[in-house]
Amino acid sequence: MDDVRGDNACRIRARVAGEPVIMGGAMQRFEVVIIGAGLAGLQCARILAGRGVSVLIADRKNDLERPVHTTGIFVRRTLEDFDIPARFLGPPVRRVVVHSPAGRMLRLESPHDEFRIGRMGELYVELLRQATQAGAEWLPHAHFAGSRKDDCGGIFVTLDTGRRASTVQSRYLVGADGASSSVAASLGLSTNRELIVGVEEIVVGAPLEGPPTLHCYLDPVLAPGYIGWAAHDGRELHIGAGGYAARFSPGASLAEIRRRCAADFDLSRARVVERRGGRIPVGGVLAKISCPQGLLVGDAAGAVSPLTAGGLDGAMRLSRYAAEVLATAIELDDPRVLMLYRGRELKTPFISRQWKRRLFARLHSPLLVELGCAVLRTPPLSRLASQVFFGRGSFPEPDRAVLQRAEQTK
Ligand SMILES: Cc1cc2nc3c(=O)[nH]c(=O)nc-3n(C[C@H](O)[C@H](O)[C@H](O)COP(=O)(O)OP(=O)(O)OC[C@H]3O[C@@H](n4cnc5c(N)ncnc54)[C@H](O)[C@@H]3O)c2cc1C
Repeated sequence: MDDVRGDNACRIRARVAGEPVIMGGAMQRFEVVIIGAGLAGLQCARILAGRGVSVLIADRKNDLERPVHTTGIFVRRTLEDFDIPARFLGPPVRRVVVHSPAGRMLRLESPHDEFRIGRMGELYVELLRQATQAGAEWLPHAHFAGSRKDDCGGIFVTLDTGRRASTVQSRYLVGADGASSSVAASLGLSTNRELIVGVEEIVVGAPLEGPPTLHCYLDPVLAPGYIGWAAHDGRELHIGAGGYAARFSPGASLAEIRRRCAADFDLSRARVVERRGGRIPVGGVLAKISCPQGLLVGDAAGAVSPLTAGGLDGAMRLSRYAAEVLATAIELDDPRVLMLYRGRELKTPFISRQWKRRLFARLHSPLLVELGCAVLRTPPLSRLASQVFFGRGSFPEPDRAVLQRAEQTK
């Protein structure tokens, strides 16, 4: 595998950023500029570049491997529907243990490989390699500093690379810049309002015996509106806590989850090798995610399950669709195609998950959660718990017929 972090990255950087993007007095032009090289931006970049679209992908990070903010748990549907090379995935996980506030356990076992923890830094680097190999330009250490419409229906995008700000011209701008998207604000699109925060540590040195397991700690004080977790796949142990920021102290909760999971893992020789954290939008797909100048993907579009707060599946699926929409708009030379990329229809399948989230968010009493856990341990209702963890739900697939009709009528 070529290493895009080494010489290649420097070459690409020198070409795109070193003498930046304004060269010989002429402003560089792209068909699509993507801000953000997380899973959503990289997926969009490599598909567009593969279709012959000229793409610039820029990120404020210098090194895609650090910092990573996700645990990286991929669910079965994503693993089945997307070709993620096995070398970037840990061993499969089939077992979930749900811990009540008082420490009572509900063990769930699936006959299928349900989850795999992605080696996310390495996966990002590989996706970038594929994108640049297909022709995409890569600009690291570049902060999105704003955009404005040009006179020909395109957009000027300003990128701050530290030494100076550079402006590139693009037909379309893609906001793949995460939960608090500056691109969304700049394009006048919807922005995420309901967010939770998550923090985690990757720990080594603890013997990881027994089958790979995802431990979930339900406690509305420690993890209000979400969960604490300890995920081990036999190779890595991720310990984390998440919840509504105003209702807990993430650091203190993480310490308590670590203390609780000492009952399941011998942490006496454990050492933290990486800390991760970030905000997760849980309000569902945003209503306005496109305009004639561009669109949003991934967390920026709110493409996260409101119930489980999993966003990797949404990042993969929505970005694939966004790339199809953009490629069609470019082929037809018609920016109105972007108006087919609508959040409202994608939001509808999430309505029941959004109600469950509202209910979950309102559970403030540990006693009530303890009671709920007791009910879930009864055989008919433990199926409901299995449904949440092992259900085959994924981010909704958009209706591609609309896009095909646009192509045919042109
Ligand atoms: C602690 C935690 C654990 C999680 N665990 C899971 C999990 O196990 N499974 C799951 O499915 N989901 C999980 N999620 C959610 C999941 O990580 C996200 O939904 C997913 O990573 C979103 O990908 P993205 O590409 O849209 O955004 P991001 O991964 O956030 O990428 C955005 C990129 O944009 C860049 N950027 C931001 N602003 C700018 C700017 N102004 N200029 C230039 N670049 C910019 C950032 O540097 C970043 O590289 C977790 C989230 C958190 C916080």
